[in-house]
Amino acid sequence: MSETPKFYYPNRMGRVVLQSTEQVIGPDRFNTLITSTDNPDLFRLPPANLNKQFPFEAISALQAAIEAAFGVPAGRNINLQAGRQCLDKGLKQFDPVLGIADLPLRLMPVGMKFRVGLDVFARLFNTYSDQVVNIRSTPTHMLWVIERCPVCWERKTDAPCCQLAQGLLEESIFWGTGGRRYHIEEVECIAMGDPACVFQIDKQPLD
Ligand SMILES: [Zn+2]
Repeated sequence: MSETPKFYYPNRMGRVVLQSTEQVIGPDRFNTLITSTDNPDLFRLPPANLNKQFPFEAISALQAAIEAAFGVPAGRNINLQAGRQCLDKGLKQFDPVLGIADLPLRLMPVGMKFRVGLDVFARLFNTYSDQVVNIRSTPTHMLWVIERCPVCWERKTDAPCCQLAQGLLEESIFWGTGGRRYHIEEVECIAMGDPACVFQIDKQPLD
């Protein structure tokens, strides 16, 4: 039997996910949740550096723990909200590293901002974490394809369960396009047996 390879987020990303989730449910409920899990050490707040030491297991176990504590529908909604918080809570701090600030985003038409923003975010994950993201385009949609996904790592579910990734994607696009909303839906999920977690994003904004 071969050992499962270990994949990691940089500490800073793990920290952002923990803090965002704590903000959504409040520190008291967050502490109760963590201490009731089999391995509370998995969720110890890591330092805000870029070392790849925060295991994928911790991200997916947190999603599962929230679903178990609050029920699946409410839990998935909490994970979606936590994903939305991640951008403000710290992923924007990757901005200088990525050079987003150097891009003349404000001068671009919204459709181009949308594409460039997605490319930049894919690069963030592909460069600083073991998450693997590809972007594909169809006539009507952009597809955000997570080929190695920490959010549902080693989970088995009947419905897509990467709401954390969806929330982050929604806020990243909102930010990158200067305030436009796009309909996003997770249409395939590795936890359901699909080869990748696929998020279908309408090319036309909602407004
Ligand atoms: Zn996933």
